Amino acid sequence: MALDKIYNYIGGRLAEPSGGNYLDNINPATGKAYSRVPASDARDIQDAVMAAKQASKAWSQRSVDERSEVLLRIAEGIEARLDDLAEIESIDNGKPLKLAKSVDIPRAAKNFRFYATAILHYGSTSYEMVEQPAINYTLRRPLGVVGCISPWNLPLYLFTWKIAPALAAGNTVVAKPSELTPMSAYRLSEICMEAGLPPGVLNIVHGLGPEVGGAITSHPEVKAISFTGGTKTGAEIARVVAPKFKKLSLELGGKNPNIIFDDAPFDDMMRMTLHSSFANQGQICLCGSRIFIQSGIYDKFKETFVKGAKRLKVGPPADKDTKIGAVVSEAHMNKILSYIHLAEEEGGTILAGGQRVIVPGEYCGGYYIAPTIIEGLQYHCRTNQEEIFGPVVTITPFDTEEEVLEMANSVRYGLSATVWTKDVSRAHRMAARLEAGIVWVNTWLLRDLRTPFGGVKDSGLGREGGFDALDFFTEPKNVCIKY
Ligand code: NAD
Repeated sequence: MALDKIYNYIGGRLAEPSGGNYLDNINPATGKAYSRVPASDARDIQDAVMAAKQASKAWSQRSVDERSEVLLRIAEGIEARLDDLAEIESIDNGKPLKLAKSVDIPRAAKNFRFYATAILHYGSTSYEMVEQPAINYTLRRPLGVVGCISPWNLPLYLFTWKIAPALAAGNTVVAKPSELTPMSAYRLSEICMEAGLPPGVLNIVHGLGPEVGGAITSHPEVKAISFTGGTKTGAEIARVVAPKFKKLSLELGGKNPNIIFDDAPFDDMMRMTLHSSFANQGQICLCGSRIFIQSGIYDKFKETFVKGAKRLKVGPPADKDTKIGAVVSEAHMNKILSYIHLAEEEGGTILAGGQRVIVPGEYCGGYYIAPTIIEGLQYHCRTNQEEIFGPVVTITPFDTEEEVLEMANSVRYGLSATVWTKDVSRAHRMAARLEAGIVWVNTWLLRDLRTPFGGVKDSGLGREGGFDALDFFTEPKNVCIKY
């Protein structure tokens, strides 16, 4: 049977890749190819950049009300296709259908809605001078053509988190979703056409990272790059764009601590810790993969947590009881399994999981891993320092704030951290000293889209969210008038 084909979206039209080459798109729940993705190249990026350039002037000169209306229609288009989009996201990525329907797709619509309305309230500053009769005001202008590159773990959610502010600010966009999860981005092209987004304002080009992403980052007409993905890729992109002086936003990897004090609200903490450890098969950059538990509740925590993890049902993403679906690819599954072996070599004890799960029937070739809990590792070993990005966590006891801060801050990453305590002063002390861009206290992944989002150290550069993203996608120009 011929597999369904995905097309690029360039200049308002669906297009085959110039070279006519395609990649297989694998369903990770079965391990079988189910569609074909364009293996585009620099020629397709050249076409997309030219289309974006041509559309740039008219789009930037539209009133913010007009741009807002188009973006709201895109949000409505996503909402209208909730069921369809959730299903394809779940098939492409392996995530439970329920999760795609309750989190990924609603958030993608919300991203467009948020920036469609944020732009209506986006202002700039003015400074009156007293010593000289003069006033300064700052204009904020769109940059022109910008590039947005996103990963596979939250496909449409993260893709739209970049595209929406870029478009709202008046830029035109050349965007690349992950080649592993291209389907929802393809559907977004159809939604944009239906919503009346003018041709060339958004262009979506599919294909491999170095060929397609590399052609975007190195293109002289692309004025800024907004990238979410691995730290290694981020470093390569920084190397390419630095000498070209492009604006650069990098949202990269994490190895986040989840710190649980004796006085934590135990039941809430346990429910949320199971979620922050294993949601989306542990493939959320914000998952708390290093869990530190104060000694007084270590044994109770361990017993309850292991029981809870063993109860999480691993199975086909579309089943309503499934809590843990498939990880995204065979290569990624093997990487995760290799880290579990490493943990054993490093002296860790596997308390739960630790192996691939074979789901019977048509899913027997799928990439499933049981939720895995490891104890007994030193905090500075590789398992505790490197990003695994799967359903694997370590548990480590601690006694004092000083001790846990040293362990928590010992990694090269600094994306997020979670602290569980009822002691308000301690919560403030910890929040101030944790090396992270985001700290949650007594919760996890509670997001207000107005807040700055991003990491420190090797977790990234710059902030997304709220007006920060609109600042990124615009250039300030100060005007000083003496009167
Ligand atoms: P990745 O870096 O392999 O790929 C991300 C995107 O970059 C893909 O579209 C890929 O095709 C493209 N790409 C690859 N090489 C490129 C190159 N040389 N030039 C330009 N583009 C290139 O990451 P991934 O495996 O898709 O995603 C997982 C990683 O993303 C994890 O490290 C995770 O922590 C991180 N992540 C971070 C955040 C955040 O907000 N900080 C959010 C989600 C995921």
